[in-house]
Amino acid sequence: MTVLRTHSDHLSEQDDALSIFAEISKHDHEQLIFCADEKAGLRAIIAVHNTTLGPALGGTRMWNYHNDREALTDVLRLSRGMTYKAAVAGLNLGGGKAVIIGNSQSEKSESLFRTYGRFVEGLGGRYITAEDVGTNVRDMEWVRMETKYVTGISKALGGSGDPSPVTALGVYMGMKAACSERYGNDSLTGKKIVVQGAGQVAYYLCGHLRSEGAKVFISDIYEDKARRIVAEYGATYIKAEDVYAQDADIFCPCALGGILNSDTIPQMHFAIIAGAANNQLADETIHEQQLIDKGVLYVPDFVINAGGLINVANELEGYNQDRALSQARGIYDVIKAIVKLSKEERMTTNSAAVRLAEERLQRIGQIKQIYAGSSGFTGRLGEMSQKISR
Ligand code: NAD
Repeated sequence: MTVLRTHSDHLSEQDDALSIFAEISKHDHEQLIFCADEKAGLRAIIAVHNTTLGPALGGTRMWNYHNDREALTDVLRLSRGMTYKAAVAGLNLGGGKAVIIGNSQSEKSESLFRTYGRFVEGLGGRYITAEDVGTNVRDMEWVRMETKYVTGISKALGGSGDPSPVTALGVYMGMKAACSERYGNDSLTGKKIVVQGAGQVAYYLCGHLRSEGAKVFISDIYEDKARRIVAEYGATYIKAEDVYAQDADIFCPCALGGILNSDTIPQMHFAIIAGAANNQLADETIHEQQLIDKGVLYVPDFVINAGGLINVANELEGYNQDRALSQARGIYDVIKAIVKLSKEERMTTNSAAVRLAEERLQRIGQIKQIYAGSSGFTGRLGEMSQKISR
């Protein structure tokens, strides 16, 4: 059946197109790529936010979005976050992210991920992908069959494997930096620390915390996961619903995002919040202000959990875990600098972290104004440079 399209249909299509450009320019995104292949069941969006520092790196999320607009909003927000995370961690990477629209429990297939991999390959390295919520190492191995621009793959295939030990070390160091600000020294000995979520990061983190003599309280919605940490490290088990009202020095979210919200914050009596979970603040402005009003030192999640990104960045350069761990220790100094700036400029720690990231983007953007030779050129310019160097 042929559907007749009216003038107003075209107008509303135009409106949609225009609003997409408005979305892109709102936060200075560079590029959006819509990828579709009906046979493979693929509908994906890749967002490249900023490549000042290097190729845009960020994972591929597979999620059953309610509609395309929701997927677009998510990929734009997440890719921008990656720019700041890499910049403040001192990495030479830009910010990007991708979303595949679909159910990660029932709609995965080799052809879907290999098709997606071909789109990533087509970007010639402007975007490098990795696993994220809803995707795993096996999916990335399918992607890798079609593109070399993928990271975070298994050790068996020459990748860096599980990033959690590096993330955990970064969180531990970040927590110490926060203690040095709050208590005048960075010792965790005797500190009461509530850890929410007993997954991969929490497992390694609790090892560090207990070896420094902290009193660790661990919770998980799956009690057996928390009990493993109780048994191995001598932590104390608490129920998942009891974490927020605990009387403790530090709250360490290592489960889900959005847990700092108007229901949970009024229950809290912590001095510091420092943990690995992404997007901890349900609303960045409202809820960080609520924490400040309560006198809580909030350590921005995208700074303290950068160990995972540091790990995959190292994979790109030829993986060496000692080097990745040593870079993750640097999170200590970054957090000290953020807290210092937030005090001097009377701004939130989140805003101070974004400011540091933007300053680095500007400084490094400027050095790229200098022409550094034509060794990367092909064609006539490449021939010319070869003749000159001969
Ligand atoms: P994981 O999936 O291994 O562990 C998360 C744990 O949280 C699970 O055991 C889950 O049962 C538990 N959980 C879920 N909801 C809970 C709740 N309401 N109360 C208590 N426990 C709950 O994940 P992970 O790799 O340890 O990562 C932890 C967090 O850190 C995630 O938010 C992740 O996005 C973030 N992060 C991880 C890395 C990394 O290197 N793994 C890097 C950066 C950020």
